[in-house]
Amino acid sequence: MRLEGYCIYCGGKPETRDHVPSKIIMDKPFPENLPVVPACDKCNQDFSKDEEYFACLIECILRGTTEPEKLKRKKIKDILNRKPKLKARLEKARIIQEGQIYFKTEEKRVRNVILKLARGHATYENSELQLDEPTSVSIRPITLMNEDEQIEYFSHDEGLLPEIGSRAFQRMFKENEGLVNDWVIVQEDKYIYSINHGNLGLTIKFLIWNYLACEVIWN
Ligand SMILES: [Zn+2]
Repeated sequence: MRLEGYCIYCGGKPETRDHVPSKIIMDKPFPENLPVVPACDKCNQDFSKDEEYFACLIECILRGTTEPEKLKRKKIKDILNRKPKLKARLEKARIIQEGQIYFKTEEKRVRNVILKLARGHATYENSELQLDEPTSVSIRPITLMNEDEQIEYFSHDEGLLPEIGSRAFQRMFKENEGLVNDWVIVQEDKYIYSINHGNLGLTIKFLIWNYLACEVIWN
């Protein structure tokens, strides 16, 4: 494969391999045959800090706390127990407003991770380097989307929304029954993605922990 000769993130010399999606986002047992892409050591190391931050952030948001004993994912508990600075940083980003818990996210780091995932999917799919900047990057909590936006997000053909009502959508979302067509379930409730070559170009969507809905487009 053409890919083998380059780091897919910088085009440099490949020295290691990266899983798509990154294992830190998932829990064991990992799915078999996870796609791997070539990467250089520098990119691999540069991303790992941001990915660690990102995985911890998502878990803290979902549980509303940064206290390791109140988290569910063992991997994240271990990281936060081991890294008090990261824990403090996340705790500082946690704000309570009118009884609701929010986290101020470090947008650059989140974007960095999302772009890495998208580039991994895009490159693996096309077997071609995808080094240029994407045309658009959208990162939104699914909980902040209204129903139409959610349906549009899960539909794979831009402009052609399936006629499904709220219950059908719930079923699709909850039981994955309706996640037809090009949505791939890597780990249920943790990572699903879809790749679509449409009018808009190449669209990569992935939903992380049933929470963060990402969409990256290259025209
Ligand atoms: Zn590189």
